[in-house]
Amino acid sequence: MTNKDLADLIFPEIKHDISYYDEIYKPRDLKEGEKVTRFAPSPTGFIHLGGFFQALIDYVLAKNSNGLFYLRNEDTDQKREIKEATKLIMDTLKHYDIMPDEYEFDGKIVGKYGPYVQSERKEIYHTFIKYLIEIGRAYPCFCTKEDLEKKRKQQEERKFRTGYYGIWSHCRKLSLEEQIEKIKAGEKYVIRFKSLGNFENKFKFDDLVKGRLELPENDEDFVIMKSDNGLPTYHLAHVVDDYLMKTTHVVRGEEWLSSLPKHLELFKAFGMKIPKYIHTPLLVKKEENSVRKISKRKDPEATMTYYHEKGYPTLAVIEALMTIINSNYEEWHTANPDKGFTDFQYSPKKMSSSGAFFDLEKLDNISRNIISKMKAADVYDALYTWAKQYDEEFKKLLEKYKEYSICLFNIEREQKKPRKDFVNFSDIKNQVWYMYDELFEKKEKEYHFQKITDKDEIQKICNTYMAKYYHEKDDKDTWFNKIKELCDELGYASNMKEYKENPDHFKGNVADVSTVLRVAITTLSMTPDLYEIMKLLGKERIQKRIRILNS
Ligand code: GLU
Ligand code: ZN
Repeated sequence: MTNKDLADLIFPEIKHDISYYDEIYKPRDLKEGEKVTRFAPSPTGFIHLGGFFQALIDYVLAKNSNGLFYLRNEDTDQKREIKEATKLIMDTLKHYDIMPDEYEFDGKIVGKYGPYVQSERKEIYHTFIKYLIEIGRAYPCFCTKEDLEKKRKQQEERKFRTGYYGIWSHCRKLSLEEQIEKIKAGEKYVIRFKSLGNFENKFKFDDLVKGRLELPENDEDFVIMKSDNGLPTYHLAHVVDDYLMKTTHVVRGEEWLSSLPKHLELFKAFGMKIPKYIHTPLLVKKEENSVRKISKRKDPEATMTYYHEKGYPTLAVIEALMTIINSNYEEWHTANPDKGFTDFQYSPKKMSSSGAFFDLEKLDNISRNIISKMKAADVYDALYTWAKQYDEEFKKLLEKYKEYSICLFNIEREQKKPRKDFVNFSDIKNQVWYMYDELFEKKEKEYHFQKITDKDEIQKICNTYMAKYYHEKDDKDTWFNKIKELCDELGYASNMKEYKENPDHFKGNVADVSTVLRVAITTLSMTPDLYEIMKLLGKERIQKRIRILNS
């Protein structure tokens, strides 16, 4: 009996050697420094902010170096609904315009290193696992769940490290004959890697973010192929795929750091070149005085759908993440306002190696800035796209009043210091509702009058102004001069200087009167430019509102 007999018994259908795949997956045609990165999510049905963060790093690394970025679907945990989940991943990457250069979606494979879906690569994994069995570096394990549980308990009681290693790796000691006999008898098994490592030995490893690490060698005979579906575990698939697909830089969450010694031992057993690793820090947030991990259970902002629902411009989300990918991003961006985020040279060394702060307030600021710099027509388009999905009522109003809405969004825009009142697209309705009669009329109104609160006086100001002074065609200066004339007529100071010198001579001043008009028309004491608002509303609608107020 030889290892080969065992390997053939387990994988009778695998005929070729691993070198066969070196013929198929030829080295990529890369120039010095060009990087190959990959985003390798498990299709779970939603994208975590942390996963997107990694994908963004992958994308920037690839684009920085003129390399490429591919998507690999890690669906070896086949219990879930894969198709929808994959669509979500693709839609998200598309939405943020960080599309992979190679991927597989909807039956279409783009790229020469596929399939890019792990469940379609079973034969490849089996070939590599068969090879390990043949060289004596993998073996079948027949331990049941109960056996393993018992072992773990014993280890805990005796204060040993838990796991399948050394004296605890029971099936490693079975003879080839025993192994073959059990398989022939139909016993269930998994395949384990046969480790040659010694946990007491430490070795040095350079992670591009974490720097030089001292890690213990792996000594666990970890599972590389599961029993239920013959699919590989992450450990085996990671090594085989990143080798064959020629990944130069593996970007993944730091939760994988503890398995790194396993992966390194596997690479070594196959004699494969080890890629560079970028283990990304956890995304954390401040909560009162403490710092904690952003959790999908507690924090809505942990999933990417949150940003879609809120209607953040994609660039705002990307830039908020860029500022935590490298803390010098902001400075660079201020100095290079016209450059795109992929022009920024990402440096893993400059990345925080402990927690990375993701701050929603910061996102809001970035988002306000981005929206303030958009053209009114672009705000309209983006808002309309958002409303189509999330706000039917507003969508209809935007359709009905397209030109009007664009004029509205243009107030104090496209100028040196534009207004920054829109945080995101879901916020716009809250800011402009009073400019749409349908929304104005149905709202429970609360008028925010300030200094002048007397109903009769308010009525008098509004009515006199509208009847005697207001003309729709007035330019801004004329408009304001007429408010001043009204002040003079009704006993308010039209000149602030005069008012300050003798406040007792007047009922109030021109600012108080303007506020009355503003509140009467909009209910709010603070709005964008009142002249523009009045011009947009037009005389008839303003008068109607004053009537509503008086009634
Ligand atoms: N499928 C793994 C995960 O979702 C990928 C980790 C990696 O990027 O290698 O965590
Ligand atoms: Zn076993």
